[in-house]
Formats: sequence, C-alpha cells, structure tokens
Amino acid sequence: MIPGARIVLLGRQGAGKGTQCVRLSRHFVVPHISTGDMLRAAVREGTELGKMAKAVIDAGQLVGDDIMVGIVAERLDAEDARTRGYILDGFPRTVAQAIALDEITAKSPVDLAIDLDVPRDLVLSRLSARRVCRDCGANFQSTGTDPSPWTCENCGGDVVQRDDDTPAAINQRLDLYETQTQPLIDYYGSSGRMVAVDGVGSPDDVFARLTQAVEQRR
Ligand code: ADP
Repeated sequence: MIPGARIVLLGRQGAGKGTQCVRLSRHFVVPHISTGDMLRAAVREGTELGKMAKAVIDAGQLVGDDIMVGIVAERLDAEDARTRGYILDGFPRTVAQAIALDEITAKSPVDLAIDLDVPRDLVLSRLSARRVCRDCGANFQSTGTDPSPWTCENCGGDVVQRDDDTPAAINQRLDLYETQTQPLIDYYGSSGRMVAVDGVGSPDDVFARLTQAVEQRR
C-alpha cells in the first residue's frame, strides 16, 4: 500500500460516511479524523470547547469556521497525520474551511475529495434510525425492537440515539449541507481533485467503490 493518502470524504449526513471512513482508514492504514467525534469527545469531557459546541450541535447548526480550522490544524500536525496522511470526515464543511485547509496543508495538499452520494429522502430515514456507541462512536441502525439497555458489540459502551438526531435537527443539517457543503464539490472539482461515488447499496459494495476510487488516483 502506498503511504500518504490525504483524502476528504464529503456526503450528506447519514450517507454512511463514518462507517466507511473507519474501514478506509484500516484499509489504507491512515488515521480517520472525524470532527464530529472530536466535538462529541469535548462535550463528554466538559471542556470549554465542549460547552460551546453542545448548544450549536443540538440546534443542528455549524460550529464556527475559525474554531474548527484551529482544531483540525492541531490534529493534522500530529506525527501520524504528517507521515501517513489522513481521511477527513466532517471537515471541511464550508468553502471557507476548504480554503483554510489548503492553506494549512500547502506543502502536501489533499489529494482527493470523494462525494459519497446518497439521495436526501434515503438519508432521512437512515438518520432517524441511527444509534451510536457513546464510547467508540460505532454506528448501528435501530430496528424498532432494540435490546434495552443496548451495549456496543465492539467495546461494551452504551448504544444511544444522538441528541442531534431529532427530525427537526436532521432536516436543519440536511438544509445546511445543501447550502454550505455542496459548494465544496465545485471547489474540489475546479482543482481536479473531486470524484463522486454512488453511496446507495450494501456497505461492502459501497466500500469496494470507494477503495477503487482511491486506488485509481494513486
Ligand atoms: P453529521 O454528519 O451527522 O452532521 P458529525 O458527526 O459530522 O455529524 O457532526 C456533528 C455536528 O458537529 C455537526 O452537526 C456540527 O454542528 C458539528 N461539526 C462537525 N464538524 C464540523 C465542521 N467541520 N464545521 C462546523 N461544525 C462541525
């Protein structure tokens, strides 16, 4: 495997980005950097950032660009990301963040942005059924007859519904995606770094399409 893949995964919330990022990060042996996970960890730890982020996240809004860029710049400066590359999940989410990311990584820019494409009506139903492990962040789908209490099969943590997975907050996030994040497709497209991958299908099929898209670029 060629080291040093620097990948951004875009796509609507509920497109299966998180799960696919975990698999891609194992496959290509690069760190998976999820800004949503980082913010939720800060909320759990009760840090200043966490206190500020909680209200914003629960309302389905975006945390400010400056704060997000600061967090990501620090993370990308760590040894593993500098030497191996990364898969960015949930960042950039605005064109301003993408421009800042290109500035931070001027010496070794993002190689590839992938748009994991799943239609809005499909992600709405998936997100309403989404459950996550409070400890390791693994995603599960509720079937309506869930174990109670539900413990994570990977780490034994509590499996819960995210506070921001209410229908109102989900719709708000999907609207924000259209207005703020969709323009990133043009941003990365204009520098020849954009590829779209069909995100509808079994997780294994989608994963195969994603690895193929990455390998075609290397
Ligand atoms: P989802 O993909 O379901 O929206 P994430 O886990 O990526 O969830 O993020 C959860 C929340 O954290 C977002 O709704 C937003 O409030 C905040 N967040 C995460 N990443 C960013 C970012 N790059 N810029 C601004 N806010 C962010």
